Amino acid sequence: MNASVGAAFLGNAPLVARLRSQLARERLPHAMIFTGPDGVGKRTFALRVAQALNCGARDAHGCECGRCGSCRAVDAGSHPDVSTVSVEAGSTRIRIEQIRELRTRLELAVAPGSAQVFLIDPAERMNPASANAMLKALEEPPDRTYFVLITTNLHELMPTIRSRCQVYRFLPLGMEEMLEAGPDDELVVRWARGSVGRALATDPVELRALRDAVLAFVESAVDAGGATWPALFAESADLARSREEYGEKLRAVGVVVADILYAGHGLEDRIVNVDVRERIRQIASRLDPPALVRIADWIRFTERALKNHVNRQLLTDALALTLNAETAPMLEDAGWRDR
Ligand SMILES: [Zn+2]
Repeated sequence: MNASVGAAFLGNAPLVARLRSQLARERLPHAMIFTGPDGVGKRTFALRVAQALNCGARDAHGCECGRCGSCRAVDAGSHPDVSTVSVEAGSTRIRIEQIRELRTRLELAVAPGSAQVFLIDPAERMNPASANAMLKALEEPPDRTYFVLITTNLHELMPTIRSRCQVYRFLPLGMEEMLEAGPDDELVVRWARGSVGRALATDPVELRALRDAVLAFVESAVDAGGATWPALFAESADLARSREEYGEKLRAVGVVVADILYAGHGLEDRIVNVDVRERIRQIASRLDPPALVRIADWIRFTERALKNHVNRQLLTDALALTLNAETAPMLEDAGWRDR
């Protein structure tokens, strides 16, 4: 194996090999879409491609050297022919003016041996006008010009754009690759579900604190009765307090609840919180099959509700009531899922 930077890219080996081979044979498509979940290396690898296209010392396998002036300029974000079009501060969409500027740059001559590379990231943030302008650029790309549209959701791109691009699907990394690329912490890696970006952004101490709080909440909900409900609703309010953190907290609740479902259905190998497996098993053993169905319903309801600006505490209150054998039947009649 050669020691080039390109060889060290972790994950998605078949896809990376295919792109490298296309690069080596000068067969790289001019318009590409890199799609896949957050944090699996789409942008990182798009920059590697940009390096390889411009590297003066590219090897026979299509790998950039990573050390020459051009490769370093791409790393530093200062290469004159490699640009990213993204959402600008104060905006939520990629504007048509940005795509017009890109198209103006297409008119400029590219230095011999160089390639012009545009990363559109995140491509699904183009508004209809910018997407249409982009389409024109994709229709007739000048020689030595490449576009990489990066997205987490291929289906948010216009079909006409999709049909003009070669689509490369990035997958979540496997456990082994994650442990190699991400932090040396099994719980963090398991929670990240194949996303190196998410694993690296996770503070292990904060994760454990949040997870423990969620687990304690779930345990108290199963045991709750009479006088303990006020304290439980206070905890629920606490989980729902901050809008900024709420998405993350609810995701944590979802991971713990899913683990309980896995334990309840004998799918132990899917459990994320392996360090507290016994507590998860304990909770699952106290829930009857209808309760497992109810909490699966809760997960579905929550995913839908979050898109509709629901009262945040309602979700955690509903979970507590769902988990408790005494209150669950009352909840059935309340019709909360229809809200
Ligand atoms: Zn180089």
